[in-house]
Amino acid sequence: MLDYDLHCHSTVSDGLLSPTDLVARAAERGVKVLALTDHDDISGLAEAATAAAQHGMQFINGVEISATWRNYTLHIIGLRIDPANKPLADGLRNIRSGRGARAQLMADSLAKSGISGALEGAYQYADNHGIIGRTHFARFLVEKGYCKDVRSVFKNYLVKDKPGYVPHQWATLPDAVSWICGSGGVAVLAHPGRYTVARKGMGQKTLRELLREFIDIGGQGIEVVCGSHTPEQYAEFARYANEFNLLASCGSDFHGPGESYRDLGRLPDFPLDCRPVWLAWEADPSPASEAAFISSEENQRGTDRVNR
Ligand code: AMP
Ligand code: MN
Ligand code: MN
Ligand code: MN
Repeated sequence: MLDYDLHCHSTVSDGLLSPTDLVARAAERGVKVLALTDHDDISGLAEAATAAAQHGMQFINGVEISATWRNYTLHIIGLRIDPANKPLADGLRNIRSGRGARAQLMADSLAKSGISGALEGAYQYADNHGIIGRTHFARFLVEKGYCKDVRSVFKNYLVKDKPGYVPHQWATLPDAVSWICGSGGVAVLAHPGRYTVARKGMGQKTLRELLREFIDIGGQGIEVVCGSHTPEQYAEFARYANEFNLLASCGSDFHGPGESYRDLGRLPDFPLDCRPVWLAWEADPSPASEAAFISSEENQRGTDRVNR
């Protein structure tokens, strides 16, 4: 088992636990190295880093950036980013700014299907209104009895050709990767198995074009072991990692107790001879970005300095 979990969400995006509670749960469940990767927002990292230090856990500054490539929405994980990096922070703010209008259109679409009050209902579930998204709508639809759980919402609503779906332009793939790499981070293609689903997803040829392009613009990693992959997909994407010489990453993509495919915690070993993504930073254990982050957060929030 791996004691790295490099993909999870807090209440800063669409997770159910605060950064502090999330870190505590990860520590209890045996995680030794944790990355918090909220969608398009890095404002939970300082709190999570403080909590991780208290648990003696290594913490990685992360983010999951929403990107549009051709007609696909992709998620790009940034690991070891520098949260004080201006192009990254500005880029993320720009992506977040589109979410409010999108939420209004989603609510309008649901209203056409007879579901009223969705906008207010979804915002009730969003601690951070700036990151309002489909998971918050999903929780509202479960609350109102339209679906039995969040997973089944994503079969019947909020996805292409279903009520509540709204196409959206996110960051371009080159922008997302350059913000991550420009801040000293490693860019990882999240849950590739989500993009290749039978019938609706991309085929092998398109996936290969994506991987080639991703690498050309600086992408270095691919999620192999993650919450939305089956064990067969671990093997499939391990083969892609090896073929394309990409580093392999692993993460639960945990959102909340009872809501996710996989809980926080130790993850199965990589199949085959993958090179783990942490090889990229083990040789360089204390990047300048951490020191810069501590001082900028101290200035902004007056948080206690922690020794990391
Ligand atoms: P958004 O960024 O607003 O498009 O929301 C994307 C989020 O919706 C993902 O990060 C997941 O949390 C959730 N989501 C998308 N598809 C599924 C699915 N099939 N099952 C459960 N959650 C999903
Ligand atoms: Mn999510
Ligand atoms: Mn994702
Ligand atoms: Mn995620």
